[in-house]
Amino acid sequence: MNEFELITHYFTRPSRERQGIGDDCALIDIGGRTLALTTDMLVEQRHFFSDVDPQSLGHKALAVNLSDLAAAGAEPRCFLLGLALPAADSVWLEAFARGLFGLADRYQCELIGGDTTRTPTWREVPGPLTISITALGEVVGRALSRSGAWHGDDLWVSGSLGDAALALAIREGLAPADAPSLDACQTRLLWPTPRVELGVRLRGIASAAIDVSDGLLGDLGHILDRSRVGATVHWDRLPRSPALRGQPLPLQQRCVLAGGDDYELLFTAPPARRADVLAAGRETGVEVTQIGEITAAPGLTVLDEAGARVETPFSSFDHFEQSSHSR
Ligand code: ADP
Ligand code: MG
Repeated sequence: MNEFELITHYFTRPSRERQGIGDDCALIDIGGRTLALTTDMLVEQRHFFSDVDPQSLGHKALAVNLSDLAAAGAEPRCFLLGLALPAADSVWLEAFARGLFGLADRYQCELIGGDTTRTPTWREVPGPLTISITALGEVVGRALSRSGAWHGDDLWVSGSLGDAALALAIREGLAPADAPSLDACQTRLLWPTPRVELGVRLRGIASAAIDVSDGLLGDLGHILDRSRVGATVHWDRLPRSPALRGQPLPLQQRCVLAGGDDYELLFTAPPARRADVLAAGRETGVEVTQIGEITAAPGLTVLDEAGARVETPFSSFDHFEQSSHSR
């Protein structure tokens, strides 16, 4: 049973709300306003290494939630913070809070509550540090969802893909790297930038959207499943950093197609809205690239420059199908 089968089987029930399980945010209409809610958890040794810089961890714990709000086109309002800590280490907490509020203040996203507990110690090993944030946003107008893609739509992605996965590959000794490119990739892994302004700006333009957290192919698969369409992706158009382009092709493909931790927006829009998409990117200072098309026929095909099918023997990150990774 994989992560998504587990969620569907045990936790998906008929919903009274406008949008619930299966999208980046739940949407709730209250008093004529639409609230977007999302929650994301980071677990030591699962999502981050124990020696991670606590300031970057504070930033990332909130960033991954704001990225889900961005995928719904929601403006961040406030958040709740759940912490399970092995110890009350003041130096660690100081740095964590600095990273957390550094990002929160950028969006005037206020911390309004939470819960704090200590992890139990078993055989002298403390339980893993765990951070769980629930973020609330507000959608003015129509929210973005995973289910609105139509055949004939263009497929777009923001920024570039694969650098966070390359940082992990370098750390695991699977890729050589010079210091500047390692630094750039580490920054993408540890200090992700949620595409909040772009998500908000894409309301009324994009037909569907998701944030890429588990790898391009897997997250595109969610759009395709929920929209009941297929897609063609052009490998040569996929935006990659110079550091990634310097790597052997199989590693590039694995990082870009299945890497995860990118926190870019993947979205669809009718071809008639191309100029609007480009303007949205320009005005929010984020590069946007058209990487493929939505097709009526189901399935996902990746084509190389010559139009030949790229074999994609990768699965994206799934918490119950792979076991040993620290992500
Ligand atoms: P994301 O990567 O944006 O956090 P996923 O692609 O992993 O989301 O999709 C999982 C979907 O299932 C989301 O809509 C999420 O809210 C929902 N979900 C995940 N875990 C649970 C759970 N334990 N109970 C109910 N819904 C869940
Ligand atoms: Mg998401």
